[in-house]
Amino acid sequence: MDLFDSHTHIDMPHFQNDRPRVIQRAKDAGLVGMVTCSIGSASFRRTLGIVKKYSGFIHHSAGCSVSQLTENEAKKIEALIQKYSNEIVAIGEVGLDYHWIKDPVGRKNQEPLFGMFIDLAVDLELPIVIHSRKAETEAVNILEQRFSGDVLMHCFDGPQETAKRVAENSWFITLPANFGKYRNRREAAKILPLEQILLETDGPYLSPTTERNEPANISYGVESLSKLLDLSPEDVAHATTQNALRFYKL
Ligand SMILES: [Zn+2]
Repeated sequence: MDLFDSHTHIDMPHFQNDRPRVIQRAKDAGLVGMVTCSIGSASFRRTLGIVKKYSGFIHHSAGCSVSQLTENEAKKIEALIQKYSNEIVAIGEVGLDYHWIKDPVGRKNQEPLFGMFIDLAVDLELPIVIHSRKAETEAVNILEQRFSGDVLMHCFDGPQETAKRVAENSWFITLPANFGKYRNRREAAKILPLEQILLETDGPYLSPTTERNEPANISYGVESLSKLLDLSPEDVAHATTQNALRFYKL
């Protein structure tokens, strides 16, 4: 089976003691590659080194920690993206977070920063990876108005009507390895055609086990999706891997 982790955070301190072994386990599990997502300027710099070391296997998508983003940090990330634009495969995760940010003013303040990253993706002709926790519909509203490139709704957990809009826009979603526990995600997996679905771990987060999550666990997502769609794990692995290679232009 050829597997691909479409969204992980391999630069995180959770992996600092055993990163080479984690990456070897991913290869042993059948992964042909992964996209690691940096979530800030310090994370961006760490990721540059990792991607250089595992060139051709680990690819870099550059984004931010949406719920903690300041204007100053956004500017630093923007400068790094401009400087290293030919070493990244996408911009994101960027977007809106209504899970951690609850007050209306704080929510509204995220929009200009999100807009800045959208403009950057347009300028650099890069695909965009969207974080839209509890704000899926709001993020889709903005993207439909402002962006005509390729969109990946990371860890999509929106309602069915929003999943239908994502499908009609020919955008993509990723499902995490533990997606079977979430009703919206199971529904989205049935609404979107398989050609628009990617799999991710979001490791070290969202573990399907009681341990730290890591890219080798992408097999849990393959298992869940193959059961849900009544397809063989091989077919699901192949299709979702091809979708990832297509989306990230690898
Ligand atoms: Zn993430």
